[in-house]
Amino acid sequence: MNLPAAGILFVVATPIGNLGDFSPRAVQTLKSVAAICAEDTRRTRPLLQQFGIDVPLMALHDHNEDEIAAKLVARLLAGESLALVSDAGTPLISDPGYRLVRAAREAGVKVSPVPGAAALIAALSVAGLPSDRFAFEGFLPAKAGGRRDRLQAVASEPRTLVFYESSHRILDFLGDAASVLGADRHAVVARELTKLFETVLDGPLGELRSRIAQDPNQQKGEFVVLVEGAGDDEAAQLAEGRRVYAKLAEHLPPSTAAKLAAELTGAPRKALYGS
Ligand code: SAM
Repeated sequence: MNLPAAGILFVVATPIGNLGDFSPRAVQTLKSVAAICAEDTRRTRPLLQQFGIDVPLMALHDHNEDEIAAKLVARLLAGESLALVSDAGTPLISDPGYRLVRAAREAGVKVSPVPGAAALIAALSVAGLPSDRFAFEGFLPAKAGGRRDRLQAVASEPRTLVFYESSHRILDFLGDAASVLGADRHAVVARELTKLFETVLDGPLGELRSRIAQDPNQQKGEFVVLVEGAGDDEAAQLAEGRRVYAKLAEHLPPSTAAKLAAELTGAPRKALYGS
């Protein structure tokens, strides 16, 4: 008995704003598959309609991905080709799909990309920050404590740091980034890329936060925040600050130890000790 040739799982990027960025190959691929798995079918349906793509849609999101992945892999093995899209941009980039892609690959199914927009790459391409090496940190935790912990963990990272942030938390994020990474650290805030109100602002983190705090329009929409990596001097200062803090904290309450260590070494106090 001949087994059917397995189908292909296409991972297809959709625009992050400007519909002109939907590539002809993406549209063609979506028209050719048996079904399209979408993060939120209510958001994807109008996009597909606009491009004349009339293919069954299935929901695949964080809450059903494990359960549905096995069924999708069975369909792929039976010879159907499927496509995966997310609400905007490239699937799996701060979006669902990782577990499906993994399951498909483990089953020996071909997984093929149809690349297109990804907000982090669009932002890096216009930020004017070193882009030969960068660290994508995605969304930081919503709660201040968790967010600061993650910022502390990357405070001496030499590569350009790239974060995703929403309008609800952009000011809190910039405030924490300024206090943990240092108010003078150069950063870029890329907002609403490819859309009508696209804005790319740059400057020291502290100044950027004040400018955006003063202008409610600049707090709206979707954001990529890029922060210049730590220079050698900054990394050395932080290492010294952490060494002094650890020594002082053996004898003093942590907040006092952090205050003194920051004064003695110049390292940002919040990079040394929590909140
Ligand atoms: N998969 C998407 C991608 O490839 O970029 C990212 C999805 S993630 C759920 C959404 C976040 O991406 C937003 O909160 C924002 O940080 C960033 N983002 C998406 N579109 C953007 C845009 N047009 N301008 C700036 N940031 C954007």
